Amino acid sequence: MFTCDKERMKNKIEMFSNFGDAGHGGITRYSLSPEAHQARDEFVNRMKEIGASIETDDMANIYATITGSEPGLKRIVMASHADSVKNGGNYDGILGVIGAMEVLETITAENIPHRHPITAMIWTNEEGSLYPPAMMSSGVICNDYLPADIGKNFKKEKMLASKSILDKTSTFGEALDKSPYKGDGKNRLNPNDYMAMFEFHIEQGPILEDAGNEVGVVTAVLGMFNYRIRFFGQADHAGTTPMHKRQDALYAAAQGLCYLHEEIDKLKTPGLLYTTGEIMCHPNIHTVIPDLVDFSIDVRHEDPGLRAKVLDIVKSLEKKEWARCKCEVELAWQRDTVYFDKELAGYVKEAADELGTKNQVINSGAGHDAQFVSYMIPTTMIFAPSKDGHSHCEPEFTTVEQCTKGASVMLNAVLKTDRK
Ligand SMILES: [Zn+2]
Repeated sequence: MFTCDKERMKNKIEMFSNFGDAGHGGITRYSLSPEAHQARDEFVNRMKEIGASIETDDMANIYATITGSEPGLKRIVMASHADSVKNGGNYDGILGVIGAMEVLETITAENIPHRHPITAMIWTNEEGSLYPPAMMSSGVICNDYLPADIGKNFKKEKMLASKSILDKTSTFGEALDKSPYKGDGKNRLNPNDYMAMFEFHIEQGPILEDAGNEVGVVTAVLGMFNYRIRFFGQADHAGTTPMHKRQDALYAAAQGLCYLHEEIDKLKTPGLLYTTGEIMCHPNIHTVIPDLVDFSIDVRHEDPGLRAKVLDIVKSLEKKEWARCKCEVELAWQRDTVYFDKELAGYVKEAADELGTKNQVINSGAGHDAQFVSYMIPTTMIFAPSKDGHSHCEPEFTTVEQCTKGASVMLNAVLKTDRK
């Protein structure tokens, strides 16, 4: 068994925390921003130092590859993202990049024999926080392999036209054209040249920490659906319309939301997660009774049968009248549970057990580039604990020991894949 170097990990974690440092413990590092390019430069410089060759593709994804003893073999790739949400933390995404770098650095420093070329990779624009959507590049690169209803949302031309959420006019395509990392489409991750992908990531939830485990062997990304729920009322003057004559869409929506919680909770299903995180109220004026309220519901669980039961509850909203208002529900989007490659997940489990790293099998509730790649080549993920379950915020934290243990598990899982 081989282990990664804690001091080298610490040095990288600290160094990458500088790029986009927001000044209070976290970073804002939008994809293709100057800060993101600093992180990319650091990645490339460090990878060149160990003799890796650098390639970039037409979505500015970066690949740093060390050769193996049998150069004709397919590559094994370890990949994650270097961009963040606004006021994000120092671990989401970048830990998987740092971990991949550390694996290559350990292999070269210790002259660990391996047959296949091994690649560390940065995905462009995973967060989609400046140019939506999330997982943009993996959606483009894996497009031919994705289910059609997902793939249609990730056509390259449409992605290039994605507008900045800040100025509402500049596009992702323009930022890509300006990036020195925009390269050739022939360098894309593809099934002819790559045999497997690993993504090391923070858990972004509290399960590993609560269980006292150091590594998660990720076997699936949870299936989910996202519906819009709309309540239609009548706008009227707030100062003149008697209460009993009102059709208040916001009051109706409040009742509908409480009904959803009560009915879904009756299913008493462990692991079921549902969220209303977005609400639109029209006309949103304090002197006018709302005539339209539109809110989201995001529902996640591994089992499609259970999701169908929740969907029945959501759809039952339409059959009732809510405070004299009508309700309509509409599908925004959905995805099935994505199962990772059993053999690769088995190598992760074996590696963790052999290293004596406390581990457990876990699902991912959050989306990752790995879920799209898994439609194209065998893929799996490794989780490190998130302190107090925090992520997408500045308190996001994973100890150097935990980061290093996760990287060591990835190193040994990659070597097991290499010997296959
Ligand atoms: Zn991430």
